[in-house]
Amino acid sequence: MCQFSEIANEKGLDAQNFQCKGCSRSIGLIFGKPRTCKFDGWYYCYECHENDEYYIPALIVHNWDFRKQKVCKKNFEYLQDKEEQPYINVEDINPRLYEHVPEMLEIQNLRVQLMHLKTYLFTCKQSIAEDFRKLIWPRDYLYEGRELYSLADLLQVPTGSLASSLQKVIKFATKHVYSCRLCSQKGFICELCNNPKVIYAFEMDATFRCPQCKTVFHKACKTDNRPCPKCQRRQHRQSLHGSNKPLLTPDYDSHVDQV
Ligand SMILES: [Zn+2]
Ligand SMILES: [Zn+2]
Ligand SMILES: [Zn+2]
Ligand SMILES: [Zn+2]
Repeated sequence: MCQFSEIANEKGLDAQNFQCKGCSRSIGLIFGKPRTCKFDGWYYCYECHENDEYYIPALIVHNWDFRKQKVCKKNFEYLQDKEEQPYINVEDINPRLYEHVPEMLEIQNLRVQLMHLKTYLFTCKQSIAEDFRKLIWPRDYLYEGRELYSLADLLQVPTGSLASSLQKVIKFATKHVYSCRLCSQKGFICELCNNPKVIYAFEMDATFRCPQCKTVFHKACKTDNRPCPKCQRRQHRQSLHGSNKPLLTPDYDSHVDQV
C-alpha cells in the first residue's frame, strides 16, 4: 500500500504481533491502550505516538477532507518535512477530483495555460525567461506539468491563494507575449474563419487546440461537425500516397506548442 495515495486501514493488533510499530515494545491488552496513526494505519505506544495531529494527503485527494488526524511522532515529522515537495500526483491518485472540486479544475486549467505560456517565454530573451522562473520559483513543477502538487499547494486551494498566485504569473506572461515582437508572432490564424487577428493556445476560453496536430482555432469556429482542416489535409495526402506513415510537413508554427 502507498501511504500517500491510499487511505490507511487499521490492520488489527495481531497483524503486528501486539508490538509497537515504532519501537517493538508490547502494546495492547495489559500494556495500555495503543494509539493508531491515521497516516499508516499501524499501532504505536504512547512514546512513539504523542497524539500529534496533521493533514493526511490521501484524505485530501480522495475525500477533499482537510481535517487534521492523529499521527505517530515519526510520520508527523516526515509529513512536515515533505510539505513543500511535489510528491502528490493527483491524476494518478484520484483523477475524478477535478469533477468534484471546481477549484481543482480551475487550477488545472491555469496550469495548462501556464504550460502554453512557458514555451513562448522560454524561447524569448533570456531575461524574460528568468523573470518568469523567478515568479514561480521554487515551484517550477507547476508549469512543467499539471499532475504534481505539494501538500502546501493543496492547502492553498480552498483559500484561493494558489489560484491567485498562478493568475499573477499568467498575467505577467500574457502581457509579455502580446507586447513582444518575437513572441506575438508565434500565434495562429484561425483557418476556419481566416480572421487576420492572431490567436494563441493560452487563450483557453476563446480557442480550441486540435489534440492531434496542435493547430489552434476559435472555439466558436471549431464546432463538433467541422473537422480539423490540417488533419484532413494530412489524411488526404496519406491516402494519396497509399501509406499510413505520417508525412513530415513543414510546420512553421508548431514548435510553439510542443509542451
Ligand atoms: Zn513505541
Ligand atoms: Zn517575447
Ligand atoms: Zn475562427
Ligand atoms: Zn488537427
